[in-house]
Amino acid sequence: METRELTCIGCPMGCQITVELDKGEVVSVTGNTCARGDIYARKEVTNPTRIVTSTIIIKNGDKPRVSCKTANDIPKGKIFEVMKDIDAAVAEAPVKIGDVLVKDVAGTGVDVIATRNIAKMSDV
Ligand code: SF4
Repeated sequence: METRELTCIGCPMGCQITVELDKGEVVSVTGNTCARGDIYARKEVTNPTRIVTSTIIIKNGDKPRVSCKTANDIPKGKIFEVMKDIDAAVAEAPVKIGDVLVKDVAGTGVDVIATRNIAKMSDV
């Protein structure tokens, strides 16, 4: 029997959750205050994923960088590769919230999208 201790990231309460596994199968989840914690814990020990947030360089924009995030969860083990692709990316202003800045980032099938508007330098 294996025991994993987790801190739930579902809300600011940050419940301490204990998951017991037997040969990779979840046997019990305790310490969660709500059902979201149970779902999070089961996923975290079997298939951990994350939304990645960062910034991307903007050319000809009224700001030097635009904030961005992955449009969906990506596998936790791919975070390093995703960050490498985001660091290498350069977008051209103007940019609108929701615009795709990196398609299929690190081969995850997930796009990186803008989370703020950036105007063109000459439009300011
Ligand atoms: S278990 Fe529920 S209440 Fe506790 S941190 Fe997670 S989401 Fe919040």
